[in-house]
Amino acid sequence: MHFIEWYPRGYGVAFKIKEKLFETQSKYQRIEIYETEGFGKLLVLEGTVQLVEQGEESYHEPLVHPALLAHPNPRRVLIIGGGDGGTLREVLKHKTVEKAVMVEIDEMVVETSKIYLGIDRGAFEDPRAEVIIGDGMEYVKNTKEKLDVIIVDSTDPVGPAKQLFSEEFYRTAYNVLNDDGILITQAGSVYLFTNELLDAHKAMNSVFDKVYYFSFPVIGYASPWSFLVGVKGNIDFTKIDLKRAEGLELIYYDPERHETLFQMPKYVRDLLEGK
Ligand code: SAM
Repeated sequence: MHFIEWYPRGYGVAFKIKEKLFETQSKYQRIEIYETEGFGKLLVLEGTVQLVEQGEESYHEPLVHPALLAHPNPRRVLIIGGGDGGTLREVLKHKTVEKAVMVEIDEMVVETSKIYLGIDRGAFEDPRAEVIIGDGMEYVKNTKEKLDVIIVDSTDPVGPAKQLFSEEFYRTAYNVLNDDGILITQAGSVYLFTNELLDAHKAMNSVFDKVYYFSFPVIGYASPWSFLVGVKGNIDFTKIDLKRAEGLELIYYDPERHETLFQMPKYVRDLLEGK
């Protein structure tokens, strides 16, 4: 048995499967959990791979640590999506973080992940964590809190996640950030969702004071995977606090080599520069 995620243009990513452990249709999406032959458990939403147990850190580490180490003092962090708990787990490794709010639209993803994956490794029980079941867009529109870092760990820009890639969302998020703040979002496969990436890049550029792009090879995705970073204020995202990186116990993202994140194929630089 195998599971294949089909990307555009007939490109696929496949896993050999030992067994299907769970399947349900939630209010928002089809949720599936498989036991793979070589990568542990696999979480699939609406037919798209969200994570494999053995290697999920290759997504969660670059999504979290560059932003938290580039911010001078990240105390209040908002995660949008991230129902599996991996992003929350990485955020809470930072001692400066006093509060991490995770706003996930689909309670079934949180519950299924707790039962079958456990990759939060206790993060949901951390007294600094608050889990809200709701729409991330509505949350940023209505919150009275000021935030230091916003992490968008959403599904790709279809269904309820589509609005999280819009200029309206970025503008609302910019307004709830403190004077020095960072928003980072996963932005899909650079080669296979090029238009979606360029649209999000353009929307961010019209809102944030500075926008950065980097990609990272993520196990289970059609790599390299894109990340877009919007900065409010004077933060230089190419510089991080190495002292705070000590003790984070990272596997994939290397703070000592932070500057290498920004190397990219000429093809990608040309795309982003509109050539
Ligand atoms: N690592 C994943 C990826 O990029 O493929 C993302 C993982 S996480 C499980 C994605 C979550 O975003 C899903 O559980 C989905 O329910 C949630 N989501 C989608 N749109 C949302 C919205 N508007 N507000 C809050 N959560 C949302």
